[in-house]
Amino acid sequence: MAQEWNIKSRGHVCTVCGKPLVDKSPVVSVLKELPDGYERWDCHPECWKSAPRNWEPFSSWEGVYLAPPPPDAKKEPLKKETADELLRHLIALEDPAMKNVVYVLAVMLERSKILVERDAREQADHTIIRVYEHRRTGESFVVLDPRLRLENLAEVQQQVVALLSGTKTLGEVSAAEERNETKQGSDQ
Ligand SMILES: [Zn+2]
Repeated sequence: MAQEWNIKSRGHVCTVCGKPLVDKSPVVSVLKELPDGYERWDCHPECWKSAPRNWEPFSSWEGVYLAPPPPDAKKEPLKKETADELLRHLIALEDPAMKNVVYVLAVMLERSKILVERDAREQADHTIIRVYEHRRTGESFVVLDPRLRLENLAEVQQQVVALLSGTKTLGEVSAAEERNETKQGSDQ
């Protein structure tokens, strides 16, 4: 059985003849099913056609080979997630431990005029469901306002800043938020 999920990057030389693939030229990419996953082939179209083989591809497609960017471009640091990308990412994660982080990030985006608040509904437990709209894209974001106590706000803001600057990972922040939650729960 092959894996269901799998990511493979593209090769830079032809799997059949071993010569480099040519920038902006057609390339045939093939996934060959193996007992424990897939093997990826990237070939000159003529090599793929003429190569003798006794197996059928799991998948094959024709694309255009693009050479990797020159080395100096590669040295640039990875583009950091922007605040609104981070919000999309966090909402998609649906991690309950991150509820304070999600809310504070949304408020920061509202203050910087990226989001605008469109609606707010108080719930029975006095938390508030706030609906924000992205000014540029028109996306709507439904965010729980957990009614953070002021003394907790600064701490959560620091976590958001750490995520945006890349000094902390989502996993680290989630674990820290979970510990805070437990601590606050036992204080009450
Ligand atoms: Zn070739």
